[in-house]
Amino acid sequence: MKFQIRVARKKDMKSLSGEARESFHEERMQMVEQQLRRRGIHDQNVLAAMEKIPRHVFLPVEFIRSAYDDSPVTIGEGQTISQPYMVALMTQCLQVHKGDRVLEIGTGSGYQTAILMEVGAEVYTIERMKPLAEKAEKKLKDLGYDAFHIRIGDGTLGWPEQAPFQGIIVTAAAPEAPETYKEQLSEEGGQLVIPVGSRYSQVLHRITRFQDRFTKEEFTPCVFVPLVGKYGWKEEY
Ligand code: SAH
Repeated sequence: MKFQIRVARKKDMKSLSGEARESFHEERMQMVEQQLRRRGIHDQNVLAAMEKIPRHVFLPVEFIRSAYDDSPVTIGEGQTISQPYMVALMTQCLQVHKGDRVLEIGTGSGYQTAILMEVGAEVYTIERMKPLAEKAEKKLKDLGYDAFHIRIGDGTLGWPEQAPFQGIIVTAAAPEAPETYKEQLSEEGGQLVIPVGSRYSQVLHRITRFQDRFTKEEFTPCVFVPLVGKYGWKEEY
């Protein structure tokens, strides 16, 4: 079956209240210039998406003022939205083309999901914490995005019914790249971007599949919350 790709569109933000309705345009431009361009993010689609998407809208109201800081920010349930640079770098590493089917593990606030749709992906996203998944889904819909499918559950199993995926992006850290993801990658250059390592420090990996051959590249050191599930860590910190 061929998928009809719906283009992500943005409604006005009438449904958002108070500070969330502010545009923070200046802060966002500065973030892109100083935290992304200067550090080597060069993919124009990624830069344009990060310029466009109101990151503050995805944060709990009390943390809105930190939305464009060069750091991760709390999103509730003990989880965090990654530092802007890390979101940009992971998206750039994934090399999304318009219409690609992408699996995202760890929906969290939904911010990375929005970035993926802006760069052209049809996103399948899984979050294990129901309150986060519900909030993220509502936010994305309020912003007018509809090229995503969200599931609540253990994302370490992947989404086998919808495989293969051109890209898989995991925004939580794993002790090693789960085989489930490798199996669900497209055989024609599918790419998995995932932080791999110990509980408190990891390295960002990209694994590329051609038929049964997998090649691994390592990028920057990083620190993510744990990927908790059958093929990840067995419990929280
Ligand atoms: N990408 C998110 C940030 C994710 S933080 C954003 O842009 O806001 C990591 C998320 O992964 C957390 O919300 C956590 O609950 C989720 N997570 C951890 N293990 C998971 C699993 N096995 N399946 C699905 N989600 C998981």
